[in-house]
Amino acid sequence: MSAPTGSEWTVKVAARSRRISLRVYPGGRVTVTVPPGTPPLTVERFVSKHRAWIDTQVAQMKLRVAPTSDVAPKTIALTCFNESWAVSYQSDKRAGWDSPQPGHLTVFADSLAAPQWRDALRAWLLSQAQQRLAPWLAAVANERGFHYQRAQIRRQRTRWGSCSKSGTISLNVCLLFQPPAVVRYLLIHELAHTVQMNHSARFWQLVESHEPQWRELDKLLLKGWQNVPGWVYV
Ligand SMILES: [Zn+2]
Repeated sequence: MSAPTGSEWTVKVAARSRRISLRVYPGGRVTVTVPPGTPPLTVERFVSKHRAWIDTQVAQMKLRVAPTSDVAPKTIALTCFNESWAVSYQSDKRAGWDSPQPGHLTVFADSLAAPQWRDALRAWLLSQAQQRLAPWLAAVANERGFHYQRAQIRRQRTRWGSCSKSGTISLNVCLLFQPPAVVRYLLIHELAHTVQMNHSARFWQLVESHEPQWRELDKLLLKGWQNVPGWVYV
């Protein structure tokens, strides 16, 4: 089925659903969930009726995903630490990276046409996040009186962080491209989940007690995907 708007949508039949519902995911994918036996024409009418809403949501959700591009960067801004790194590339059979001094990164790759340089940059990015984001989380937890089990760094295209029931906090490596105040808010947000595993009023009260500016910072975080360089997700 093609969408009347031109955006892709898929129909999902859910045995337990009682009515037709729409969901737009980060990146702009649209899913229509229908009860078993719903006639296709009913589904199409439903989508047509909500066309304006879908268009608005798709436009917003397209901004909630990191863009991609295949250009090898000459500089990388780690906004989170107010740093600009100069990147140079050296031809080498053995792919990898070296940082002779902070702010200078050398990438070794067979050729810039190969995916090696991206792998090397991503490995460097991950090491920066592991060395610097994880201790930051520990410091904020200590300062604010939160307890978590462990931190892990991940590279995800649509989530900034998460907190599991067992107390593992996952942080997206792309937080490095966000302003410090935004990152600190995300850390507090995930730490607050160690107390409240939901987004209830109580949860937001707790967040507010540690970060009164959370509303603005949360909005900035949603837009933050646009700050992520394209090579991170190719
Ligand atoms: Zn949350």
